[in-house]
Amino acid sequence: MTTKIVIIDDHQLFREGVKRILEFEKSFQVVAEGDDGSEALGLVQENLPDVVIMDINMPQMNGVEATRELIEKYPDTKVIILSIHDDENYVTHALKTGARGYLLKEMDADALIEAVRVVADGGSYLHPKVTHNLVNEYRKLAAGVAGGGRGYAPTLEIRRPLHLLTRRECEVLQLLADGKSNRGIGEALFISEKTVKNHVSNILQKMNVNDRTQAVVVAIKNGWVEVR
Ligand SMILES: [Mg+2]
Repeated sequence: MTTKIVIIDDHQLFREGVKRILEFEKSFQVVAEGDDGSEALGLVQENLPDVVIMDINMPQMNGVEATRELIEKYPDTKVIILSIHDDENYVTHALKTGARGYLLKEMDADALIEAVRVVADGGSYLHPKVTHNLVNEYRKLAAGVAGGGRGYAPTLEIRRPLHLLTRRECEVLQLLADGKSNRGIGEALFISEKTVKNHVSNILQKMNVNDRTQAVVVAIKNGWVEVR
């Protein structure tokens, strides 16, 4: 039995590397490749793969959205996320949408093959570091620390400037204060870098400041962001 695989990742060299590794395995066949999440549905319809390997950060549609769309239409699709992010926010999002596996790009070739095999057989596979982070997160939750207010967790003690900014802009402002780049913010909120840029320029305008550093300073002074 051949395991048919589709790879979706915006970096061609990386795709080729993954393809080469997978095809060491005689029973694996990479049947199609795509460079954006928006192609996922079409490629699955066309090729009916056993496993889809999906990047998260892609220019138009990210891998989490693409997975959600795929699973809605084809609930039995076995998606393995292959990302650089080991943050539990990403992992939780990805697993919620129905991904069966979560791998990190730093993993070795044998583990990749093992993961595809396990998921094709109906199992789940998480990279050890991912598992470790999830376990730690649950441990904190169980201890009542509630994850330290990171990411989507509500932070009630902070007075968000909702008189001035939209809820989304408040989130972006917090991530600016966390020292994240536009790219990092996009990744954290599952939006494109272009959308982040728009949010940032709206924030600067509404706060009447010239740059993101000033925005962060004003935000910290006013207790609008959490210092973490
Ligand atoms: Mg990418």
